[in-house]
Amino acid sequence: MSALVWLRSDLRSNWHSPLDYAIAHHQKVRAVYCLTPEQWQQYHYAPCKINLIIERLKVVKTELAVRNVILTLINTGDFQQTPEAIVSFCQQQQIDTVYFNAEYEWDERVRDKQLKKLCELQNINVAKFHDTCIVKPELVLSKQATPYKMFTPYFKSWLAELYRSFPQVSANTKASESLVELGELELSQFKKTTEIKDYEVSSEAIYRQLRDFITQYAPDYGDTRDVPALDGTSHISHLLSIGALAPKQCVFMLQQEYGETLLEPTHGVHIWLKELAWRDFYRYVAFHFPHVNKHLPFQKHYQYFKWETNQVHFEAWKKGQTGYPIVDAAMRALSAKGWMHNRLRMVVASFYCKHLLLPWRWAEEYFMSQLIDGDFASNNGGWQWSASVGTDASPYFRIFNPTAQSERFDPQGEFIKRWLPELVSLSAKHIHQPSKYLDVQKLGYCLPIVDHASSVARTKQQFKQFIELSQQ
Ligand code: FAD
Repeated sequence: MSALVWLRSDLRSNWHSPLDYAIAHHQKVRAVYCLTPEQWQQYHYAPCKINLIIERLKVVKTELAVRNVILTLINTGDFQQTPEAIVSFCQQQQIDTVYFNAEYEWDERVRDKQLKKLCELQNINVAKFHDTCIVKPELVLSKQATPYKMFTPYFKSWLAELYRSFPQVSANTKASESLVELGELELSQFKKTTEIKDYEVSSEAIYRQLRDFITQYAPDYGDTRDVPALDGTSHISHLLSIGALAPKQCVFMLQQEYGETLLEPTHGVHIWLKELAWRDFYRYVAFHFPHVNKHLPFQKHYQYFKWETNQVHFEAWKKGQTGYPIVDAAMRALSAKGWMHNRLRMVVASFYCKHLLLPWRWAEEYFMSQLIDGDFASNNGGWQWSASVGTDASPYFRIFNPTAQSERFDPQGEFIKRWLPELVSLSAKHIHQPSKYLDVQKLGYCLPIVDHASSVARTKQQFKQFIELSQQ
């Protein structure tokens, strides 16, 4: 009988366990992807992310055809309709087994339970695989068999599990020698839209990017990762979020290239591996603590915290008109490119939550609507961390000073000048806080919308009062 592979956030044709398994065990294999524009809208997917999905699907369709698998797109519109659509496809095509990779967010788990129920009624088998994370969330538990709430102990346990279960490879084989040969792809049949013109979708380009980062840049990651003006990070988050790259493949390449060095805590490659573990961690949190999927803070009592609702401040932050150059440059880069450097995500998020005291959920939604790598678990985790309401959250009193962050991570103002042309003539001394030295309005720039010291003092006071009240 035939098998069906249901593609979701795993848009690739290799490093794909359900596909490999189905091909090895069935004579005929079909694949489907459900287009769910209503769900994309509900999840606030950015147009650039939707374009990326569509363009990548064209590539995957061609690659699957090479493996004798026809990819069919089903437009179900509504996400809730997908299980029924899959079952009806199976009936039409006489398919007896459905394979897919698990997704750990709440809605997705409910959907998969529904699929299982419907399939059982129709005598269709369902088999779930776990390629979405490097280490499956159920496998990382404390000695008391409870899920971790902090990243550090989680990471220790995650690392042990990784080395227990992950296929070890010889350190002699270099990643550059093990590139998967995909052959020439039929790229001519589609045109890339302008919104994703800087983003490659072909598998060859994607693997090249990963290999180049791992072989050339990863060792220096510890030194370069916090400098937005440098290209020191991998820029693969959008590829991981749609599954054009498998996270396990990243680890495999790291192991091949660096062997035991991967375990040296201060080495750049270990630090990068830890970032991949953060991605797993936020999926782990979404899986073990489902309330975070339902618009609630991880620390539930913070749902009663009184954030401000100043729309003028919210608009100024979105437009990059706060008068804090590093925040404004980052926000303008986000609108223009659909991507933001991690250090800057932390800076703009801290400014938003702690200087403007605005609700983190508004910003979480806004980020999703802009980011090409928009991903519920990582975005939600990042925002909850920044607002001091999440797991492992930064303590409320540790508030980034945006000027100090700017001086430290963009000392010459190189990144700022890229995005704020009105400040291009300023010296390294003046660029981080121009209103202190110059009439910025004459330059076409804006005055700071809030004062650093007084907003920080107000926020600390607000949090302190809230914590005292909630402990009574
Ligand atoms: P690298 O530094 O090269 O790291 C490699 C990979 O590790 C990344 O591609 C990513 O998958 C993962 N990673 C790195 N840092 C983190 C982190 N802090 N949390 C989770 N995973 C991480 N990442 C998303 O993929 N999607 C989002 O929607 C998203 N929203 C965020 C919102 C906020 C407020 C914050 C503070 C962070 C957010 N991040 C998000 C995490 C991080 O900023 C990006 O993953 C990273 O900037 C992507 O760049 P890169 O691929 O060059 O990462």
